[in-house]
Amino acid sequence: MKNKKHPKKIYLNENEMPRAWYNIMADMKNKPLPPLHPATKKPVGPEDLAPLFPMELIKQEVSTEKFIEIPEEVLEIYKIWRPSPLIRAYGLEKALDTPAKIYYKYEGVSPAGSHKPNTAVPQAYYNYKEGVKKITTETGAGQWGSALSYATQLFGIELQVFMVKVSYHQKPYRKTMMRLWNADVVPSPSPLTEVGRKILEEDPENPGSLGIAISEAVEMAVKDPHTKYALGSVLNHVLLHQTVIGLEAKKQMEKVDAYPDVIIGCFGGGSNFAGISFPFLEDKLLKDQKMRVIAVEPESCPKLTRGQFRYDFGDSVGMTPLIPMFTLGHTFMPPSIHAGGLRYHGAGAIVSQLLKDDIIEASAVHQNESFQAGRLFAQAEGIIPAPESTHAIAQTIREALQAKEEGLEKTILFNLSGHGHLDLGAYEQFLEGKTQDYSVTDEQISKNLKVLDHMQIPKI
Ligand SMILES: *Cc1c(COP(=O)(O)O)cnc(C)c1O
Repeated sequence: MKNKKHPKKIYLNENEMPRAWYNIMADMKNKPLPPLHPATKKPVGPEDLAPLFPMELIKQEVSTEKFIEIPEEVLEIYKIWRPSPLIRAYGLEKALDTPAKIYYKYEGVSPAGSHKPNTAVPQAYYNYKEGVKKITTETGAGQWGSALSYATQLFGIELQVFMVKVSYHQKPYRKTMMRLWNADVVPSPSPLTEVGRKILEEDPENPGSLGIAISEAVEMAVKDPHTKYALGSVLNHVLLHQTVIGLEAKKQMEKVDAYPDVIIGCFGGGSNFAGISFPFLEDKLLKDQKMRVIAVEPESCPKLTRGQFRYDFGDSVGMTPLIPMFTLGHTFMPPSIHAGGLRYHGAGAIVSQLLKDDIIEASAVHQNESFQAGRLFAQAEGIIPAPESTHAIAQTIREALQAKEEGLEKTILFNLSGHGHLDLGAYEQFLEGKTQDYSVTDEQISKNLKVLDHMQIPKI
């Protein structure tokens, strides 16, 4: 062991838990542009969002207040798995023979096995407080669906989950978790909605996408006044709830006198990335603290590294508001990689603005590099990471090897967003040499973005 006095795990007590989420909007010089109504293309107001979300979440969506109090009821539920451990990755450091100090925050300790319950619980809570009886949602790999199933049944709310068809068949046990937690789960595209029926008519074998599943869930919520909709990433209030991760991590690092030079999170829509990084970014925005913050996406769905910053729909048929974001175009169909949670065409507005302003950076890794990183991590640290999380590990390894080359003792913090116990089928494919690296051509990307020009979506 390099440093016997430094603990392997850094814990917080329950009474050291954050009492409020951090809202980075308060500290951003350039705030994100407002979302636009899909039909009128005018900024959306609270009344436009009211059919979809409870008022408290709508308020949080546009709030510029710096701290938003975590309700007592939510804190009590958080305590089942929070504070989550911060772990020094001695094993990985040794395996890489790097002078870098590597820390990771482990969110796989939650009931659903990922960071997603951090927002599922408050979302279910605010819906419950406002008398909502039923919620609809979409899920890719099944992480969000299972997290929200867990949360809604705690508050006696009914849940309809639209699960991306390819994942529904690849990950049957996630479906079982959702059903155990009382949710109704259907593969998307489904015959339950107009959007789903139309897509199935044109292409019965359509593997589905997060965008399609969102469209289905939104359609069902809009048509029923007692039903609302919940989203597991992208939106400001989701990112806000996830800051509990970084707020804890900051306190934990303080306990061992450490501070990250590099912060890394994998990137689907931005929620776990925002969760680990925003509380540290406060220091960059206000105190000019030098640090690099890196969002890591799959090469097969490269919205941050190769997409355009412009208004686009959050779903794939154009029902949601237009969000100012880095996007590949809402008609982009990512290849069926195993990190299902990273197959989304766009990115959250806040994260997109931060990237545009060069406050954060982005990188992309191929599927096989990620799985190799996941295997090395499993061997060195014991935990089998979710395929999504392996993207953050792959980037961490790149940084640690670079530190070795340069002889620099930098401190790296990454978010281990979930465990991979329900993704062993994917690891099996990797071990059999059957996982492919998919590249997207510039032509494919520009073809999808041209669709936006034709739809006369306002440019930024
Ligand atoms: C959903 C998910 C992601 C991607 O979503 P973000 O909103 O970008 O965090 C990453 N890791 C795991 C384990 C997930 O379940």
